[in-house]
Amino acid sequence: MTEFGFIDQIRRLFAALPDNGFEGIGDDCAVLPLTDGEALVFTSDLLTEGVHFLRSATTARELGSKSLAVNLSDVAAMGVRPVATLLSIALPRDAAGSWALEFMEGYRALSASYGTPLVGGDTTRSESGITINVTAIGRGAAPCLKRRRDALAGDTVFVAGELGASGTGLQDILAGRPDTPLAAVHRNPQPQVDEGIWLGGRAEVHAMMDLSDGLASDLGHILELSHTGAEIDLERIPVAAGSDLRTAACGGEDYKLLFTAAPEAAERLAAEFQAQFGIPLHPIGRITPDGGLTWLRNGRPEALDWHGFSHY
Ligand code: ADP
Ligand code: MG
Repeated sequence: MTEFGFIDQIRRLFAALPDNGFEGIGDDCAVLPLTDGEALVFTSDLLTEGVHFLRSATTARELGSKSLAVNLSDVAAMGVRPVATLLSIALPRDAAGSWALEFMEGYRALSASYGTPLVGGDTTRSESGITINVTAIGRGAAPCLKRRRDALAGDTVFVAGELGASGTGLQDILAGRPDTPLAAVHRNPQPQVDEGIWLGGRAEVHAMMDLSDGLASDLGHILELSHTGAEIDLERIPVAAGSDLRTAACGGEDYKLLFTAAPEAAERLAAEFQAQFGIPLHPIGRITPDGGLTWLRNGRPEALDWHGFSHY
């Protein structure tokens, strides 16, 4: 069974239970609208040794920061501000001392950057390997929420940064070269928190998510939930220096925001984003009424068997 097959089964198993006001499984975060026009969002991500990281190829401090970063990215992808986190961690004996303290130092430093207190969690011993689970909570005005299901035919598709650096960095690490600049990018993802909040405030932004599994896979979620297709111009995909087009389209863990916006507002949005953050938005294609995901090279469809990245 694939990861998404299993998640679908879970969704069906719980379909008959009350939702208690929550929008549940399917987006970057679960959403709980409050009575004051605000909403809370919740997300949870797991990192496990040997699958998501190798202890020999990352420092404890980097891992503490990354465990938090990937969750803050999911909150930002909803267009709202992260407000607190919970951390559960299972530690084998050989990681319980200075390793754990260094891990917490990395977690604390990124928490301080975004003003997110650590408000709870759980700590336990592990017989084999480190397992880390972080839950992040966000809060914002309900109309600012950006969901995967809200792309409209004709929208411009944007990514808010260059792609492929993390995927190429992972290839470096797996090839025994942990000291390359892109390997460092892979170990130190920077969530687009301020960018996500800013885009949340823009009504012309329709659907949004963060890129964790790669464009080829993640864009598919927006298309499926919005009942639309998309045409992506291969030559407009922003490839990070040192990476390559295929890794930019299929590699995971870039944690850049992927979103769609009303075409008539797209140019002004990009100019204001550039003025605000000093980096460009990259228009890479457009949403179509249907037809799945089509890659175009110089305007011509190209059949590519490209898929995203999966740990499962
Ligand atoms: P993301 O990459 O943004 O973290 P995923 O692709 O991992 O999202 O998950 C897709 C959706 O499935 C999300 O809404 C997530 O909360 C939900 N999900 C994943 N695993 C589980 C699980 N074991 N139980 C319930 N929901 C899950
Ligand atoms: Mg996500």
